[in-house]
Amino acid sequence: MRVATCLFEAAAWRYAVRPVCRCGHSANFNPHGLWWHFHKRMWDDRLKSAREHFWCRSCSLQHRKRVRPVRLELVRQSEGDIELTFPPEREWKRAISRFRS
Ligand SMILES: [Zn+2]
Repeated sequence: MRVATCLFEAAAWRYAVRPVCRCGHSANFNPHGLWWHFHKRMWDDRLKSAREHFWCRSCSLQHRKRVRPVRLELVRQSEGDIELTFPPEREWKRAISRFRS
C-alpha cells in the first residue's frame, strides 16, 4: 500500500483526508477540493504542516477556541465527504503530469 505524505498524493491515490480531534470528533474531506484549497493559498500540503490548518468544530463551539487535530488519517472516500471547490480540470491535469514526471 502506498502511503501518502501530502494532500496531493492523497488526491492522486483517492484517499479522503480525516482530521481527528482529541475529543474524538472527526470529519472526512474529499482530497481534490482540499488539495486545491491549499494549492491556491500556497500552503504547504504535506500532511504534517496541513494539520495546522484544521480545527475542530465541536471543540470551538464548546470551548470557544480553535483546537488542532491530533492527526490526519487517510481513509477510503465515501458519499458524505466534505467537498470544497474542486480544481479546474486543467489545473488538476497539470499537477498530475508534474507528479508523474
Ligand atoms: Zn474536538
